[in-house]
Amino acid sequence: NPQTKTFHSLRSPINLPPENAPLNAATYALSLQSASPWSNPIALIDSATGRRVAYSEFANRTQSLASYLQRVVKLSKGDTAFVLCANSIRVPILYFSLLSIGVVISPANPISSGSEIFRQVEVSKPVIAFSTSSTAHKLPKLRYETIIIDSPEFDSMTSTKHETDSVEVSQHDLAAILYSSGTTGRTKGVMLTHRNLIGVVSGYHGVKEERKSPAVALYPVPYSHVFGFFYCLKSVAVSETVVVIGRFDVRKMVKAVEEFRVTHLSVVPPVVVAMTKGDIVDGFDLRSLERVASGAAPLGKEVIAVFKQRFPGIMLSQGYGLTESTGAVFGLLRPEECLNWGSAGRLFPHCEAKIVDPTTGDALLPSQQGEIWLRGPTIMKGYINDPEATLSTLVSDGWLRTGDLGYIDKDGYLYVIDRLKELIKYKGFQVPPAELEQLLQSHPEITDAAVIPYPDEEAGELPMAFVVRQTGSSLSDAEIIDFVAKQVAPYKKIRRVAFVDSIPKTAAGKILRRELKKIALPVPGSS
Ligand code: AMP
Repeated sequence: NPQTKTFHSLRSPINLPPENAPLNAATYALSLQSASPWSNPIALIDSATGRRVAYSEFANRTQSLASYLQRVVKLSKGDTAFVLCANSIRVPILYFSLLSIGVVISPANPISSGSEIFRQVEVSKPVIAFSTSSTAHKLPKLRYETIIIDSPEFDSMTSTKHETDSVEVSQHDLAAILYSSGTTGRTKGVMLTHRNLIGVVSGYHGVKEERKSPAVALYPVPYSHVFGFFYCLKSVAVSETVVVIGRFDVRKMVKAVEEFRVTHLSVVPPVVVAMTKGDIVDGFDLRSLERVASGAAPLGKEVIAVFKQRFPGIMLSQGYGLTESTGAVFGLLRPEECLNWGSAGRLFPHCEAKIVDPTTGDALLPSQQGEIWLRGPTIMKGYINDPEATLSTLVSDGWLRTGDLGYIDKDGYLYVIDRLKELIKYKGFQVPPAELEQLLQSHPEITDAAVIPYPDEEAGELPMAFVVRQTGSSLSDAEIIDFVAKQVAPYKKIRRVAFVDSIPKTAAGKILRRELKKIALPVPGSS
């Protein structure tokens, strides 16, 4: 309908469980798995050791751990568990155990710095942490002792059977707190409920393809980021086999694709770029690959063109979503949808979108550009202990303001054009400029600073700093880069520096980022 102002999903509706029935997201995903047509397929493969975990073992280990956590550690429903773990086959088992007993999962990127972790813990107030041995030293002391998951003790917690006390978890109970800077500076805790997770899982289950054998999935993205987090759940629901590689490396990834006959690879755009360029994939047999899906940041049309030329037999798709929407809300799913190069996809079942004029607040028509607003069962409950940020992000009638600029065409395809919010995405990771600006301003020789995204083919965007030095200071760009690098996760490093006499600002003191972008990237021909 050309007069549409609210865009509805064009996909067939799917059955969501009745909202008021007690149900946790883990039990829900496992119940869909047990109805799969294959008998006890492999749930997880550790690419380093070749160790395989069948779905029956997965369910048993999940249950053993859940009962240990209840009976021995004495965790109870509503407690929060901080998870600081590199990807491993133990992480999905941990997630399912915690969800099944109503313990709220708060996963953080294991490469976060000590001060970032301190802030995250302040936000989510966990009582316990789960960590890999190499990251445990970064954790503050919590009520219960940290549980190290790459340890023989953890293996015995997941293999000794005890009775589990049944806990009634309502779908509206909190399931997870993920970290996001949202549309402004500070790290906030995104509250996702079991209903949100059930919404995203059922969406994927409802649109899954008919297959003769289980799909073999590999998603080398952190399981702490919403992308990896909800994939851990949806993989169980659609009964696919997940190949897990630890620390990311492109060569390790393509080797795992070849060795374990991966059919579905889900990555961030820089990985697609790496696959299209150079010789990294040469010599590997990637014929098992049916689909490569890209998400978390935009994928350029030029990259798609080169990819299609190099891998004509592989379907390349894109998805769009946010931590605040429990991940993908738009996606290219069917083969014919993937022909719309540059589109971030069509709405998932039960989801709605509006394109809103950022100045007037009016909802716009198909093909008109404005801010993307989203509504549906996967939209977060809010930011924890931050009513102000919640109110400015979740507006009337449950609509989520994404801070992204785009349009939806008459066939329901979304095109993301730009970001209205102050967020940089380096290889799909969130880099909030305000956080880096505060750090820069804390340097005794810096009087003012601003950080903007600088376009980069490989990473998408690089954090670039504009710095005003104190009179007489000879602070160098290398010193500035080093000063910030010591305090942040590696992906938040400043990668370019420009010195200026002043930072352009509005009368109200707001940084004029567009002016800075013009200085960084002068339009050819202008002076
Ligand atoms: P995160 O919460 O880390 O997943 O970041 C969400 C943000 O990533 C969105 O608000 C967008 O700015 C960006 N993003 C995610 N997917 C896409 C996409 N397919 N195209 C363009 N930007 C995207």
